[in-house]
Amino acid sequence: MNLSFLPADMNWRCQSCGATLQPGMVELHYLGNVFRVELPVCPSCSAVLISEELATGRMLEIEQLLEDK
Ligand SMILES: [Zn+2]
Repeated sequence: MNLSFLPADMNWRCQSCGATLQPGMVELHYLGNVFRVELPVCPSCSAVLISEELATGRMLEIEQLLEDK
């Protein structure tokens, strides 16, 4: 299952090193399942940024998808 967690604007910067974040695929483990999600990733230090608002909304979608099984 591939999901995108990318924000509408990709003008995000890494909080650690200030580099501009780029889209990257990250494995996310949630409720015993593994999802491959697209998230903003720092090309310099590999930090992954998950917006809390974005993650909460997407997690609700994931839970609904799982319940539909
Ligand atoms: Zn960084």
